[in-house]
This record gives sequence, structure tokens and C-alpha cells, in this order.
Amino acid sequence: TLSDKLDAALKNVKGEGRINELNIAETMREVRRALLDADVNYQVAKDFTNKVKETVTDEKVLQAVNPGQQFVKAIHDELVYLLGDVHVDLNKAKKPPTVILVAGLQGAGKTTFVGKLALFLKAKGRSPLVAAADVYRPAAVDQLETLAAQVKVPVFSIRDAAGVPEKDAVRVAREAVAEAKRTGRDTVLIDTAGRLHVDEAMMEEVVAIKRETDPDEILFVVDAMTGQDAVNTAKAFNDQLDVDGVVLTKLDGDTRGGAALSIRSVVEKPIKFASMGEKLDALTEFYPDRMAQRILGMGDVVSFVEKAQEQFDEEEAEKLQRKFRTQDFDLQDFYDQLQKIKNMGSLKDLLGMIPGVGRAVKELDVDDDAFRHIEALIQSMTPFERANPDKLNGSRRRRVAQGAGLEVQDVNALLKQFREMKKMMKTMSKLQGKGRAVDPTQ
Ligand code: GDP
Ligand code: MG
Repeated sequence: TLSDKLDAALKNVKGEGRINELNIAETMREVRRALLDADVNYQVAKDFTNKVKETVTDEKVLQAVNPGQQFVKAIHDELVYLLGDVHVDLNKAKKPPTVILVAGLQGAGKTTFVGKLALFLKAKGRSPLVAAADVYRPAAVDQLETLAAQVKVPVFSIRDAAGVPEKDAVRVAREAVAEAKRTGRDTVLIDTAGRLHVDEAMMEEVVAIKRETDPDEILFVVDAMTGQDAVNTAKAFNDQLDVDGVVLTKLDGDTRGGAALSIRSVVEKPIKFASMGEKLDALTEFYPDRMAQRILGMGDVVSFVEKAQEQFDEEEAEKLQRKFRTQDFDLQDFYDQLQKIKNMGSLKDLLGMIPGVGRAVKELDVDDDAFRHIEALIQSMTPFERANPDKLNGSRRRRVAQGAGLEVQDVNALLKQFREMKKMMKTMSKLQGKGRAVDPTQ
């Protein structure tokens, strides 16, 4: 799937400490291939990778705290942009009823969607009426009637004495709108007939229904699994109907996002709903940012990066690095860092946001006790002790332990950890300093 391929492409940079020109080029090549494989339009894929490349080549990103994740964020942001940036709501008539016309090929999921949308609108306090304007197969009317009964909304259809549906779809649509006015329903959902392929007769009929009912919203329903065909169909429908929005169905299937990405940028109409299953509550409003995360198929990396950026600015990181080098880093600094990590959420939440770790950690029992102990111990130290951990003798350790409600061995463990951490930091900052200008403080 697209998710897997993007994930693989990002492996290049995820583990690396730094983004460089080589791994950018290689990653972008793989990202582009992943997009093309997922049926994303060639020009769209090309523009996409160029823009991401521009963002990650930016000087600031190259020096950022965690370049791999910055890379993921750049791709995410570009996906969001491609998917339309913001969520767009359904149009609403100034004077009810709001008329919503639903069009698309046969099997796309129109009738199912009409049932789902009726349920969705009902939950928002609206009172929809569904209209059975797919008049060719008696079974189509039956199907809508069954769905409508399940979500408890009235359905409008015309049948003769023998139960045979009226053949004039335009008439059904027109009378459904009149019926809604008469009975005080505030929304009419018109289900229409589709064919297996775009054909003139079908288009003419839908265009006629549009002319007759003057819809506030025309929704084009498309099966997301049909890839590049979905884009062509969307174009054909949009050319004839000038639709207001797109509904992607069957997103619960294998293909993830390829069609969504191209449709939005080729047709330039917002995707308004995503349907992900046969059940009637399997409908969600379409939010570009959520879809982007789904396509990336990873934990909530983006909010992780954003949270981290909030908590650790670059200037402060530099100040800290200087302290590491000069060995000025004390328990107070350690405490401050811990607070920042804590501000980002619980340890478990944080781990959960790291791609690949997310699912595993949910099962795991990570508690924040270790954090709490360290915090309590440092809190019960005086400023002098925090700045001079070496001066913590036996009686001071006893007092600190008591103040924190812990044992002396907990203090010992903390001090040992801290000493080891300092040693490690010294080594690391020496390594990082290599090849740079001479630091006068060293
Ligand atoms: P229509 O011809 O456009 O009215 O399409 P239908 O609503 O009759 O749907 C065609 C088939 O696709 C039916 O078997 C539906 O149950 C199924 N279907 C519709 N939407 C979804 C979806 O989001 N996911 C899955 N897996 N199946 C769907
Ligand atoms: Mg149908």
C-alpha cells in the first residue's frame, strides 16, 4: 500500500541523525515512486516531491533537533495541502429544504452513502427525506427503503398499483422536494442511477434532475479503490454537473489515498466525506490532516513534532549543549528538562506517538513512576544541592530521601544515573563538536 511504501521510503532518514543532500535525493525518489505506484497522477507526484524537497533542504530544518521527524512532517504538510488543506462543510439552503443530489457510477456506493448521510444528518438534529430516483431496477428502490428504515428516515418513491417504480427519475426528484416542503423535512437526499461507465443517457438524466431541483449540494460519489479511473470519472462528472464535493467510498479497502490525492488536485473540488465500510455508521467527514496521517500510516508524529517544537526551541537547545560541553549541567537543569518532557504528555503517550512503537506500547505497561521518583527527589533538594550533586553526603541523602518519601538507595540510584548521563553527554558533545569551529570554552 501507499502507506507501506512511504514508510519504507522514510526509513532512509528516520534513523539518521542528520538530513543530507544524499538521503534527501534518495528519499524523494522513493516517495515519488510510492505515489506513482498508488496511482497518483504524474504531475501531482512530481510537484509534491519538489515541494517537500524544498522544505527539507531549508537550512533551519537541516539543523533541527530531529531531522527525520521533520522530514515526515514536511511530507505530511504537503499531503494536507494536496488534500485540500481544510475541511469543507456541506452547503445549506437559506430556505429549507436543502437539496442534496448524489451522483456517481453504479456500484460506487451512492445508495449506501445516502443511508449513511441520512443517519449522519439526523445525529446533527436535521430531518432528512431520502428520494429513490434510481428508477431502473426495482431492487434499487427496495435497497434504499431498507436502508431508510434502518436509520428511521422517511423515503419518497413513486410506485404504481402493482408496486412497479415510476420510470421518470426527474419526476420522482421533483415530487420528493415538494413532499419535503409539505411535511417539513429540512433536507432532501436524492439517490440517482449510475451506469458501469460514464455514458450520455445517464449524464443527461442527472443533469435534468439538477435543472429541475436546483440542488444546494451536488455530491459525486466515487470508489477509492478504482485508482486512476476514479480521477477520470470525477473529471467527467464534474464537467457535466459542476459538483460541489466528492465522497470517497471503500477507504476501508486496500488502496489508501492514491485516488484521494489526485482527485482533489485534478478536479479542484473538496472531498467532503469518507466512507469506510458497509455499516451505516462507517462515514466520517473528510479532514485533510487526518487523511494525511492515515496515508502516512504512522503514529501521531506530527503532533509529536509540534509539541516538541513548542517545548524545546533551538536557542535553548544550544544553551543546553554548551552546558553539556562545559560540564555545567546540574540536577536543576536535569529537573527542568524533565518538566518539559512531562509537559508534552505522559511517557506512555509520548512513546505512543513514535512511529512503529505506537501499537506495541499500548499493550505495554509503561508507568510514569520512574519520572515521579526522580522529580520528588530533586524537589526535596536545596538549590545548593541541585547545583552541586557531588556535595550530597550521607546525612543530606537521608534528608532528601525522607523528604521525597523514598529510600536512600533511590537517591544513590539517581545520582549514579545522573553521573553516567553526564559522562555520556560529554562524549557525545565531543563527537558532535568534531569538524566544527574551535569552541573557546573547551
Ligand atoms: P450504488 O450502486 O452506487 O448505489 O452503490 P451501493 O450503495 O449499492 O454499493 C455497492 C456495494 O458497495 C454494496 O455492496 C455496498 O455494501 C458496498 N459499499 C458501499 N460503500 C462501501 C464502503 O465504504 N466500504 C465497503 N467495504 N463497501 C461499501
Ligand atoms: Mg444505488
